[in-house]
Amino acid sequence: MLPPRAHDALPDLERARLLDLTRDVLRRPTAPYAEDLQVRGLLEFAAERPGIEARLDRHGNALLEWRGRGTRAPLLAYSAHLDHPGVEYLGRRGGVLLGRLHGGVRPDVLPGAPLRFFALEDGTAIATARVRAARRVGGGTELELVELSGKLARGTPGMWDLGAGALRGTRLHARVCDDLLGAVSILHVLDRLWRARSPVRLLGVFTRAEETGFIGCLGLLEARSLPADTHVIGLECSPLRATARPGRGPVVRVGDAASVFDPELSQRLHAQAARLRAEVRGFGFQRALMDGGRCESTAFNARGVRAGAACLALGNYHNGSPRGRLAPEWVEWADHEGLAALLYEFALSWNAGADSAQSAALTALWRGGRAQLAQSARRIRAATARA
Ligand SMILES: [Zn+2]
Repeated sequence: MLPPRAHDALPDLERARLLDLTRDVLRRPTAPYAEDLQVRGLLEFAAERPGIEARLDRHGNALLEWRGRGTRAPLLAYSAHLDHPGVEYLGRRGGVLLGRLHGGVRPDVLPGAPLRFFALEDGTAIATARVRAARRVGGGTELELVELSGKLARGTPGMWDLGAGALRGTRLHARVCDDLLGAVSILHVLDRLWRARSPVRLLGVFTRAEETGFIGCLGLLEARSLPADTHVIGLECSPLRATARPGRGPVVRVGDAASVFDPELSQRLHAQAARLRAEVRGFGFQRALMDGGRCESTAFNARGVRAGAACLALGNYHNGSPRGRLAPEWVEWADHEGLAALLYEFALSWNAGADSAQSAALTALWRGGRAQLAQSARRIRAATARA
């Protein structure tokens, strides 16, 4: 059941579709290097929508494109990662069951954490276990497992056994918000463009193994899987900040813990969010430096692909609750709706090739002041020539 409407950014039909897509994506298990069921879901999504082209690059990152009718604007891409911190079963050593943690989870929430291991073929649960202790080994974290129920082969992926997702009040609680909700919002925009047979072109980029250091994204960049002059908006769920609270709308993310993002893209996204706030009842947004983690936009920009970012302010980031227990992540559902709406409207305005308001404002300033600048420049330069 959807929470009561908090703003008018999505029509009823689109709210229901967003809920359907969210359910579909969240119920599929995932872990770093084990995104098989997510990738399969994306290919099914495209197969059900003739005209949305899907391909995998050689690293197994997925690209879904709605071609629209072509435009002179550079190709706009939305990017999200398909994995979430999880575990790989390592087998038994000296009578002890071991797992490797992939991705960052606060050490204080690991002891006692419940695990569910899944089959890569169909996602069925094949075993459960519990973490007894965690220790740093080399550059990684090894987990001692107990209470194993079921039979496990070495290499089997596992995720936190916290339930696929549930709406309670105005919040969505799920074992994975980061970053399946980013992926959902891209699918929602592609679905809207497809249903409308929109002329607007959009590329969806779905990367793997982000939680272990943008590995899938770095592979994507190394393989040059994006067309030249692609402009990326990286989507994330990012730990809430004093300047970015759940319930105050999607976040125009101007940077992360490592870098600041493309100024023009950031400004254009900000301008679109401001237009929505002016026009749509109840819609709000936030603009913030989300320095609680690094995201792929840092990698894109560092490799010469212009990238901005947007995100949802996330509670219980990477399943660490403030009370020191492993817990579902959560977001405010209205923020999720707001982000999906913002991304749709931004794709429309991007393809219309609208000059950025920033650029227009600078041009107006230049026009207003250039005559006096030229006049005084003649005086200054003449005085210099005489000296
Ligand atoms: Zn993430």
